Amino acid sequence: MKVEEKLAKNIVKIDRESHIEIKGEICSNCEKKYCLIVCPGNLYKYNEETNEVTVEHSGCLECGTCMIACVKGAILWRYPRGEYGVQYRYG
Ligand code: SF4
Ligand code: SF4
Repeated sequence: MKVEEKLAKNIVKIDRESHIEIKGEICSNCEKKYCLIVCPGNLYKYNEETNEVTVEHSGCLECGTCMIACVKGAILWRYPRGEYGVQYRYG
């Protein structure tokens, strides 16, 4: 079974409350913007017009990579509240 097929088996219970917070004032001075390239779900977006970075938390795979990659400490990450988030079916 391909990775894409395994991921498609996952169940996600979306929480209206985001478990990821971005300190935008730090992002505005970030040149590398590693968050845009490390997220396996491609959930981080950069708006050139507003110079803002946003994240779509509902697709989060809870890998924690973004939090580690953001060396400036702009990402406040925690697991989703109980019952919410991703449920893996194939590890
Ligand atoms: S979240 Fe971190 S890596 Fe991404 S733009 Fe902001 S400071 Fe840079
Ligand atoms: S925890 Fe993983 S999947 Fe979720 S936003 Fe961060 S890098 Fe993307």
